Amino acid sequence: MAILSVTGVTKAFGGVVALDGADLSVEPGTLTGLIGPNGAGKSTLFNVISGFIPPDSGSIRFNGVEIAGARADQVTAAGLVRTFQIPRPFARMSVMENLLAYAQRHPGDQLAVSLFNPRRAARAEAEVIDRAHAIAERLGLSAVLDNRANEISGGQKKLVEIGRALMAQPRMILLDEPMAGVNPTLAETIAGHLLGMVKDGITLLLIEHNMGMIGRLCDPVIVMAQGKHLTSGRFSDVAADPGVQEVYMGKRARQA
Ligand code: ADP
Ligand code: MG
Repeated sequence: MAILSVTGVTKAFGGVVALDGADLSVEPGTLTGLIGPNGAGKSTLFNVISGFIPPDSGSIRFNGVEIAGARADQVTAAGLVRTFQIPRPFARMSVMENLLAYAQRHPGDQLAVSLFNPRRAARAEAEVIDRAHAIAERLGLSAVLDNRANEISGGQKKLVEIGRALMAQPRMILLDEPMAGVNPTLAETIAGHLLGMVKDGITLLLIEHNMGMIGRLCDPVIVMAQGKHLTSGRFSDVAADPGVQEVYMGKRARQA
């Protein structure tokens, strides 16, 4: 059974139809690619799935539960998180504080629990701090944990973005261009992290413009165009599909 299935989702911004009956299905344990020309609606689809904006209509099921219209914190609590195309760290907070801010809410976080069961609250907090250290270690961010988030490199911000997603201990992560704008060496490092996450049992849906990367990492690959599903399958097959070539070429021709 699919871990995520989107059916007939629509979203318009004024007169702009960003999603026009979008369908998509992701199998558990996969690193699925999501591609399509600029403006195809990929980021909007992530915004809608993750609860940042409500869809106008359609169904979104995660783990068999309808989440269309649920708030972002409810979607996160269900085990589905996303990263942003442009990292949005809390600039004035440290890297560590950024990671802690995204920890899943545990019972220990509740005021009543801290008042009436301070030892349990302290244990929960220690567990979250340990988790942040482990994630920072894994992502190579240990040395910058005390730095302010606006003082680290663009590539490190991308890693913090992934780290924040991992803090929620998700079953699935939606990644919006996690390698965009980083140098090729760091892009390779990030690719390695993504493969490691899949190995750990986290399902990934990846938006990425670098087709070499998509071809190497993703199976299957879903192609979107004009707010809906165009085709999906193995990368070599979708790349050879004349319909897919046309939406990319057509876009380029219109922009020229
Ligand atoms: P992609 O990520 O595939 O490049 P987007 O989802 O960003 O595509 O955009 C799809 C369409 O929706 C585009 O025409 C874009 O201009 C429009 N759009 C996206 N977000 C908004 C918004 N908040 N307000 C108005 N139009 C938007
Ligand atoms: Mg986008």
